[in-house]
Amino acid sequence: MDCEKLYADIIKEVDECRACPLGATRKNSVPGEGNIKSPLMFIGEGPGADEDDQGRPFVGRAGQLLTKILESVNISRGEVYITNVVKCRPPNNRVPQAQEAEACKRHLFKQIELIKPRLIGALGSTASKFLLGEDIGAISKIRGNWYDFKDGIKLMPLFHPSYLLRNPSKEIGSPKYQMWCDMKKLKEAYEALK
Ligand code: SF4
Repeated sequence: MDCEKLYADIIKEVDECRACPLGATRKNSVPGEGNIKSPLMFIGEGPGADEDDQGRPFVGRAGQLLTKILESVNISRGEVYITNVVKCRPPNNRVPQAQEAEACKRHLFKQIELIKPRLIGALGSTASKFLLGEDIGAISKIRGNWYDFKDGIKLMPLFHPSYLLRNPSKEIGSPKYQMWCDMKKLKEAYEALK
């Protein structure tokens, strides 16, 4: 079966999924979007209100900031794949519960199996802990480092853009500055794959 067909099946499965309570409260499922042949994938926590309205990941203020950060290191949004740990919005933007993330894991892992990224940027603490284990440590300590995820995939924890919206300083040493340094490092690894 070709890649596009397999991908369409995943989107359909996500859309029909009611495996956790989030399926009952969402407006739209938000499976993910982008280049399904990209070696670089970004995984966030879950959709917010704008994403729930549009059925697209990272389209609200945090998403717009992510797009800008990518562009600052000459990565266009369309060349990578972007998704979340959970594909339906948690009410009031709360953190997804462990059982919700676990229920949604099969969708995410099917996406990873199909896309076969070589590099993953995990956006924020929730995604990083879900992918690397709860005991991995604080995002402020682990961000910018490479970790072995699985099947040879390297994973870098990054700050979540919504955290950067709450911490807008661009001074040297600020979270925004650190994010830019991390993204440059990620870009170098991405370029090395070409
Ligand atoms: S969050 Fe995931 S597991 Fe829960 S209903 Fe939505 S698609 Fe299904």
